[in-house]
Amino acid sequence: MHLSDEELLELSVYDLCQNEKWELLTPLLDELHHFHKVNCEKYSATQQLGGTPLAVRAFKNQLLSSIDADKVHRILKSSGTTGTQSQIVLDSDTARLQSKVLSKIMQHWLGPKRLPLLILDSRKALDVHSGMSARAAGIQGMSFFGRDHHFALDENMDLDLAVIMSFADKYAGQPVFMYGFTFIIWQRIVQQLRQLEKQVAFSDAFLLHGGGWKKISEQAVDKKTFKQELSACFGNVTVHDYYGMVEQTGTIYVECEHGMLHAPVWSDINVVDPVTLRPLPAQTTGVVQLQSVIARSYPGHNLLTEDLAIIHGIDDCACGRKGKYFTIQGRVAQSEVRGCSDTFK
Ligand SMILES: [Zn+2]
Repeated sequence: MHLSDEELLELSVYDLCQNEKWELLTPLLDELHHFHKVNCEKYSATQQLGGTPLAVRAFKNQLLSSIDADKVHRILKSSGTTGTQSQIVLDSDTARLQSKVLSKIMQHWLGPKRLPLLILDSRKALDVHSGMSARAAGIQGMSFFGRDHHFALDENMDLDLAVIMSFADKYAGQPVFMYGFTFIIWQRIVQQLRQLEKQVAFSDAFLLHGGGWKKISEQAVDKKTFKQELSACFGNVTVHDYYGMVEQTGTIYVECEHGMLHAPVWSDINVVDPVTLRPLPAQTTGVVQLQSVIARSYPGHNLLTEDLAIIHGIDDCACGRKGKYFTIQGRVAQSEVRGCSDTFK
């Protein structure tokens, strides 16, 4: 069976069992492999063995495109603080698919209506003139899924308690959405609220955070502590991490109520042996390989990342969502550090 884009977008985000999902994805991924091989010379050169995942760092050193120059709609850039940035070429169809897929994923978690949004960052993060930072891109991307945006930090990255309190008063008793970068939330929001001994009692808040654990785990803060501290600060808040990368914008992996990241129906994860690239069994740490059927204008459909993960199971997470579920276990040793929220000092 071969799905059209409309049919693809109709799919329910986490309801297909792994076998059903894989039956749908395999022909689409094969087709993308052939398409990119024909249309992107640099990709083709990496495919002597056929179906080899492309290392994400390939996007750092060169522009990998499968479209004509006049079809380029936008170039996404990663936020690396060291070395060169990744550059991802989008045509308008790929950009549209990315935003529709992200929208479907976010609606699964937030519901169909836009919720009031408290951005756990400063408005200043958006004033970046030298290309879009990952923070700015994240905030802009997520702003779309909330309304009546408030910023919890002022221009100096200090807590804007007046804004937070007025947001909490305005939406007392209602569901709200909060979004930010892990390290900024920890360092600027949690620490400052603790110092001030302030609590804000939300009755139903959904907090989404991303950007990685590297910097925060250096301070010996684990997920459990992070969640506990946020509950102490914000009352009834469910805290959800997410994993994703600019090389596969749109298909993010959101953490469920049981601490597991879930692959949405449009993408999949394998955890592979770094040398043989063969998939490893569940409960084993290996390198993350990501596949996505929405990478159309650039060869990003089958990527080998520099992240480590464990797949904990397939189709049987306690939350009820189907497919593979996993946790990230850090980065491959000696790889270049990829910034994100760590860019804030
Ligand atoms: Zn789950």
